[in-house]
Amino acid sequence: MAQGVAQSSPNKPHDLGHSEDAVAGPSAATRERRLPPWLRRWFDNHQALGDEARQAGVEWLRCLPFLAMHAATLGVIWVGWSPVAIWIAAAAFLVRMFAITGFYHRYFSHRAFRTSRAFQGLMAFVGGCAAQRDPMWWASHHVQHHLHSDSPGDPHSPSLSGFLGSHAGWFMTGEGFQTRSKFVRDWERFAELRFLNRFDWVPPLLFAALIYVLGWSLERFRPTLGTNGPQLLVWGFFISTICLYHATFTVNSLAHGWGQRRFATGDDSRNNWFLALLTLGEGWHNNHHHCPGVARQGFYWWEIDITYYGLVVLSKLGLVWDLRPVPAGVVERRRIDSPSGGSAA
Ligand SMILES: [Zn+2]
Ligand SMILES: [Zn+2]
Repeated sequence: MAQGVAQSSPNKPHDLGHSEDAVAGPSAATRERRLPPWLRRWFDNHQALGDEARQAGVEWLRCLPFLAMHAATLGVIWVGWSPVAIWIAAAAFLVRMFAITGFYHRYFSHRAFRTSRAFQGLMAFVGGCAAQRDPMWWASHHVQHHLHSDSPGDPHSPSLSGFLGSHAGWFMTGEGFQTRSKFVRDWERFAELRFLNRFDWVPPLLFAALIYVLGWSLERFRPTLGTNGPQLLVWGFFISTICLYHATFTVNSLAHGWGQRRFATGDDSRNNWFLALLTLGEGWHNNHHHCPGVARQGFYWWEIDITYYGLVVLSKLGLVWDLRPVPAGVVERRRIDSPSGGSAA
């Protein structure tokens, strides 16, 4: 695994250590050439290496699957609804949100705790089912955000890019599609993470197929539930994923402008109880920018941080360990409000 990293070609600035030329035979190469480049970019992120040069504009063709996901929610007009479809959509939202907040964010971006390689891979896959691309891409942009919060270089600052730019526009550009590899070199040694970085469509596609088969099975074996494959696909995958998208995106857009500031962090980050509930704890964003490397973002018992509670449960089960605590004295430092914390959201 590490050999691939060491052999990275200097001609490919974002080479993540894959050796695709070695494994793709002539027939594969011929097959690839039959597909136009814009289509290949949908399935293989290596086909877009270097696209950051076209960074200014939105890559509309490459964004078509993302836009089509939104359009697919209109399928609800034809498939209707059922209580079981709503419950499965809610469960799919919560489980994948936890994988994003607990693992894409607190683990892959900030290393706020430790886990085994097997569980790391499992949660990378579950997070991948959220269709927010892979852990290395996600973490690399997030590290860049913390380095330049609300100043030039921040990929998604509402004060620099406006609401839409910080909410979704930033990842739709050629630059946004690239992985900022220099921030995630440590993760490159894991072949499974490199695979997900290159083929990030695999987990969501498998998840969608699983949801469809579940709906088909329920129709066949539990017809009284009133659901079927297409209905569960629309609710459990499309609607659930779109809600998950825009809830997650609010951390980049709304949490840098809407809410209370407790700490003088030098950026526009805010604490917001509503966003914290929506994103399982990520709405305590001013706390997070004040002390990014810790496992919890709600610093007080009344700052509900469901991701942290989930991580505590996983640590009791022995699946994660060494949760990094909030260091003594940090909560008192650089306070804007009174140290009692009474002004928190
Ligand atoms: Zn932020
Ligand atoms: Zn962060």
